[in-house]
Amino acid sequence: MRVWDTSHLFNDAQPHQPATAEHVYDPADSQANLRQIRHHFKQLQTRLILGLILGFLLPNALLSAYFHFQFTHTLKESAKLNLAAVAESQKNTIDLYLQERVVNLYNLVHSKEFSLNPTQAQMENLLTGLKRLNDGFVDIGFFDPEGVQIAYAGPFSSLLGTDYSKEPWYRKLLTENQNYLISDVYTGFRNVPHFTIAIKQVFDNRTYVMRAALDPDKFYIFLRSINQGKEVESTLINHQGVYQVVDPGHSQLPGVNDHIPPASPPVGVEEYERGGQNMLVAYAWLKEHLWALLVMQPVSVAQSGMIKTRLVLTISLIVISLVISAVIYFTIKRLVDRARRMAEKGQQLQEMLAHASKLAAIGELAAGVAHEINNPLAIIMATSGVIRDMLNPEFELDHSPEAIYKELSVIDTAANRAKGITRKLQDMGKNRVPSVAECDVNALLGEVVDRLKKVELKSKHIEMSDHLVPDLPRIFAEPEPLRQVFANILINAADAIVDRGTITIATEAKEGMIWVTIADTGKGIPPENMQQIFNPFFTTKGGGKGTGLGLSIAASIVKYLGGTIRVNSIPGAGSSFTILLPINAPARKTTKHHNK
Ligand code: ADP
Repeated sequence: MRVWDTSHLFNDAQPHQPATAEHVYDPADSQANLRQIRHHFKQLQTRLILGLILGFLLPNALLSAYFHFQFTHTLKESAKLNLAAVAESQKNTIDLYLQERVVNLYNLVHSKEFSLNPTQAQMENLLTGLKRLNDGFVDIGFFDPEGVQIAYAGPFSSLLGTDYSKEPWYRKLLTENQNYLISDVYTGFRNVPHFTIAIKQVFDNRTYVMRAALDPDKFYIFLRSINQGKEVESTLINHQGVYQVVDPGHSQLPGVNDHIPPASPPVGVEEYERGGQNMLVAYAWLKEHLWALLVMQPVSVAQSGMIKTRLVLTISLIVISLVISAVIYFTIKRLVDRARRMAEKGQQLQEMLAHASKLAAIGELAAGVAHEINNPLAIIMATSGVIRDMLNPEFELDHSPEAIYKELSVIDTAANRAKGITRKLQDMGKNRVPSVAECDVNALLGEVVDRLKKVELKSKHIEMSDHLVPDLPRIFAEPEPLRQVFANILINAADAIVDRGTITIATEAKEGMIWVTIADTGKGIPPENMQQIFNPFFTTKGGGKGTGLGLSIAASIVKYLGGTIRVNSIPGAGSSFTILLPINAPARKTTKHHNK
């Protein structure tokens, strides 16, 4: 079965179109087409740019945000780890420092110069030796088993003979298992801040004590000397938070640090506000004593490297994204512009082609008209010649009035045929004031069938069958051209039926269109004719019966109404013509219609 659809006939790019007024080049249409192309490419550009934003910028932003978060987290952690490492290394140095001081005292007691009743000179010598080892030592004292300082060297000579048995550090040293003690910083009998390193030694079952006082200022200077890092400060506190070194900037003995780090883990990092500034504080508890070393750095300084790197990264990312976006944007714009220009050029070429093909179609039409009119003219001329011969006595032909009437009627028929053709051409070109109305397609079909039943459908045994959908939506159109379409197709159906057959008419509404199918059980259309049946003057009906304008006119009317005609045919079995009419066709200002 061959299927033929008239829509292709009305594509302006087709060179062989029916020559109807509908195909005349229209500059307004051309402008509208250009506007449509521009609109289409603008939409395409917007879609591509939105695609770019969703497909590139959004994932890029999400990924950047994720990496930014991870990066910040890692860098914060590394700043903390870095400070904790500083704290631990300083703590080890302090531990070593204090251990060395304890060993210094031990060595003193076990030196050759030492005796249980040291003289003042011996004590002075011992202190000088100690100070050589470390200038933090202030003085030394030796205590008998009762806790009385029996020998002393240093600036507080009045302390010689003082009973220390009630002093907390002394009591702690005697009661604890450990052989040495390092006290917190205190003022004591001398009323000056210092801390004590003391060792106990048993001679003849009696416990003697040697102690040295150390200067916390010197200890602070030592602490400063091992500090590393920008704006890093270190201090020592005991387990009650009392400062053990004097930092003139931040603390005064016996100043208290309001934050005491947890006992476990022994090394850690905390973040809290101190003096109106957010500080990163690493702590490390000392091994030798229950002191905690605090290493502090303002958060802004600790993370300054990170903030700078983050800023550089963020700016680079934004710049890279902007550059890539700009490149993609301008590339899209350039490509879309180029495609639009090509489409516009293509459109113009199509219009020129359509215009040229219309001129060709007009030429074809003129040739067809000449041919169609020449035939009857030739018949008229030949017949008038015959009449002339009949009237010439030389030829002795039958010139009775009956014989002459017979020849005159041949002239009449030929003249009528020529008149018919010119009338149809006149109708085709006529501009008419449209009389658009709400059309009931079923009713129109009924009227046409009734009219045709009187003549065209009468002569043969044709059975009419219809499947008309009730409540078919009405369409806005001129009823007369529509009747013309149905009549032309119905007449063809009747002509195709040789003796007896059926014509089936069906209507339905779907896909926003009204579908009118007129099917016959006639002789069908040979495939080679399919392409031509809509061409003006194409006819297979001999004997002057056909003009070849019926389908051409029907197709131009249907096209005008915004629809198409589809044809199915099986040669020898029948044909079916389906007319598709839009239900909501845009109203037209003027119309042209034609009669078969
Ligand atoms: P005409 O009817 O004057 O020949 P048309 O344009 O109406 O002109 O039809 C052109 C040709 O299409 C017909 O001559 C015929 O060959 C073919 N045709 C149209 N309708 C049918 C049909 N239903 N069955 C077979 N052939 C058809």
